[in-house]
Amino acid sequence: MRSPNSRAMPANVAINIAKVRERIGQACRSAGRIEPDITLIAVSKTQPDAAIRAAHAAGITDIGENYCQEAIEKIAMLGDLPLTWHFIGPLQSNKTRLVAEHFAWVHSVDRLKLAQRLSAQRPSELPPLNICVQVNIDDEASKSGIAPQELSALLEAIIELPHLRVRGLMAIPKPHLNPADQRAALNKMRALFDQQRQRWPQLDTLSMGMSDDFELAIDAGATMVRVGTDIFGARAGSNES
Ligand SMILES: *Cc1c(COP(=O)(O)O)cnc(C)c1O
Repeated sequence: MRSPNSRAMPANVAINIAKVRERIGQACRSAGRIEPDITLIAVSKTQPDAAIRAAHAAGITDIGENYCQEAIEKIAMLGDLPLTWHFIGPLQSNKTRLVAEHFAWVHSVDRLKLAQRLSAQRPSELPPLNICVQVNIDDEASKSGIAPQELSALLEAIIELPHLRVRGLMAIPKPHLNPADQRAALNKMRALFDQQRQRWPQLDTLSMGMSDDFELAIDAGATMVRVGTDIFGARAGSNES
């Protein structure tokens, strides 16, 4: 369900958040889960800081951003709010320092070099940086993420790094036309997560589910859902996936 207004004014943000929370509640009830087990990350890429203020006023505590420079500016402007910032976009090596200095979480770590840089560049006065390893669950050539068969080795290496706290896995399953295929990709992530948790019981985060599939993701075991469009409205001029 998409709202017809293309760009949500901050006034709509509170209403949209209430609707998303209602859907999360329903998904939890039908999956036999409880709402406190799901963290809602409001994804605010391309949205103005006023929209983030409105989201915070409506109870949002976790914000997801994709583009480093844009995010750093917003983090500075919103420094008066107690927000937890999640970096969820593709990460280049030359941006790791800024990310390590300004974010609490990074969901898009998919190679050891990035993790090593983030650990080395994390300021020592800050708590360890929370990390999710991104998995390319649909094996898409164009997507970031590590191949499932390489995940164990990568986790093993990253878990040793001193200034990181590895929390779990993240995925962006490609949009499938039918819900059964979408479910299959999400369930594959859940199986990988369970498998890795047998070895590393401290893993507690499965970050998956966006505006179009967060109910299915909750059913499959997601603990963090990342919702942009259904909170802030469509992104201006956006056709990125
Ligand atoms: C943009 C984005 C989202 C939010 O997507 P919507 O479909 O707008 O809810 C979630 N996760 C990542 C990694 C994104 O880039």
